[in-house]
Amino acid sequence: MKESEDILKTESQHFIEQTIEKDISEGKNGGRIHTRFPPEPNGYLHIGHAKAICLDFGMAQKYGGMCNLRFDDTNPTKEDVEYVDAIKEDINWLGFTWEEREYYASDYFGRLFDFAVVLIKRGLAYVDDQRAETISEQKGTTTQPGVLSPYRGRSIEENLTLFYRMNEGEFAEGSRVLRAKIDMASPNMHMRDPIIYRILYTPHHRTGTTWKVYPMYDFAHGQSDYFEGITHSLCTLEFEVHRPLYDWFVDQLMDSDYRPRQIEFNRLNLTYTVMSKRKLLELVKDGVVRGWDDPRMPTLCGLRRRGYTPESIRRFVELIGYTKVEAINDVSLLEYAIREDMNKRAPRVFGVLNPLKVIITNYPEEATEEVELVNNPEDETHGTRMVPFGRELYIEQEDFMENPPHKFFRLAPGQEVRLKGAYIVRCESFKKNENGEITEIYCTYDPETRSGGAQADRKVKGTLHWVSAVHCLDAEVRLYDRLFIDEDPSGHKDIDPREYLNPGSLTVLTGCKVEPSLGNASALDKFQFQRLGYFCVDYDSRPGRLVFNRTVSLKDTWAKVNKEEK
Ligand code: ATP
Ligand code: MG
Repeated sequence: MKESEDILKTESQHFIEQTIEKDISEGKNGGRIHTRFPPEPNGYLHIGHAKAICLDFGMAQKYGGMCNLRFDDTNPTKEDVEYVDAIKEDINWLGFTWEEREYYASDYFGRLFDFAVVLIKRGLAYVDDQRAETISEQKGTTTQPGVLSPYRGRSIEENLTLFYRMNEGEFAEGSRVLRAKIDMASPNMHMRDPIIYRILYTPHHRTGTTWKVYPMYDFAHGQSDYFEGITHSLCTLEFEVHRPLYDWFVDQLMDSDYRPRQIEFNRLNLTYTVMSKRKLLELVKDGVVRGWDDPRMPTLCGLRRRGYTPESIRRFVELIGYTKVEAINDVSLLEYAIREDMNKRAPRVFGVLNPLKVIITNYPEEATEEVELVNNPEDETHGTRMVPFGRELYIEQEDFMENPPHKFFRLAPGQEVRLKGAYIVRCESFKKNENGEITEIYCTYDPETRSGGAQADRKVKGTLHWVSAVHCLDAEVRLYDRLFIDEDPSGHKDIDPREYLNPGSLTVLTGCKVEPSLGNASALDKFQFQRLGYFCVDYDSRPGRLVFNRTVSLKDTWAKVNKEEK
């Protein structure tokens, strides 16, 4: 038994765990494990970042190490404290902590500048007076070497003076850059004299106007890992080609044997959405969504507002795993994860989205009673609650048909259903308005069919949810569909993903009716509306003006019936 468990454990280890365990067993870095999560504060975190967070913090946790939070804030034109605060909130919400180790690449601007000066002094960096576009044109292709810059041969003295003057604010933005002098014929394009510093006059959210030159991300990243003593620098596959450059910088500048080891893994991509902060920001700016935390967004704050739990997101990340192969992950797996979590935890309640009045004609006029309902059939520790029942009720419009097809086990003239937890009722007649719409259903009930009654166990094929008309509360319910109609909206060359927006991604239903126990619910409280799905209280909700978001529908049991009807 024990042995097979061990085998299972080994088999289910991903390649990063295997690498770390090998490093530990070989005594590398004295057995120390130190990771970091390095977001750029230029937007809100999305579920892709959750994959990185679970790995960075997860590996540190698993192997008794530490994980730093490091903001890679090298570009003041795009970054903001609003994003810094939101990122911290989201990481905590996911269930991770960096303790006191909150760092910023901008903390290292002084050291990075000094390193740049060292590179210049060693003849390994030069100031280029060409514009970035020209430099990029001269880069060559994978089959052709690049063109040497006319400024590549500048003297060390001239380079030093120019670099200092760049930082004094003497030159316009974009007029000069500092480049590493590596190899313009390298098969790796990133090694072809990459730009390492540029002039920017936008004040930085932390360092203000202290600096006029800013390191490129590639110049800051590897050294920041080095400064922090990171042992395993985990990042997504697109950085694999940058690794030789990071190593080159560290090799030039550092004298010890210690090196951070970068290991790349595949990104999380989700079907029917976009997954880059830049594209998500466009959706926010264009008003396509209501904000970063719109429940249709794949951002962590959007998923939270939609009703996703940290547990469900961590579970999803565990299910997709870590490999070296890029793929698109099916959003229905994420939906599976939240259904699984909610099934165990969410209290069951009655809510009616499209109400239709039912009058029980043989029920005493002024009478009301309470029926006892189970809060969660999956877990009896959740107990029961009392729900009021009366002569006038609401049921779902789609639970009644005037001329039902075969196998329609809901209400129809002459048909019987059980009102869940209460009585069996039979539809006797109905009323239509001048437009031919059904406005009221008239039923009779059998008093013996309630729990404890002589006919309590009588079986009928259909069971409906309901609310008492005099007791229920009004609610607004927001239903969500996929934000894009295409599985991979970013995957079409030369076509803007916004061409694939789903015009029906949001449906707002007002005039919904919910059972009175929901009156005290507060934002982010989660419920199963029976037969309809999992719902979460929105931030817009107020006593007297309840607002719910549908997180996800239940597995649609009615879909099967409808198919059979056709
Ligand atoms: P975006 O393209 O959305 O702006 P990014 O990679 O530029 O993402 P960063 O803030 O630089 O965002 O990312 C912080 C960390 O999160 C990096 O280590 C990056 O590899 C990781 N990360 C970003 N997107 C994903 C993703 N889709 N799947 C897994 N990890 C990701
Ligand atoms: Mg980035």
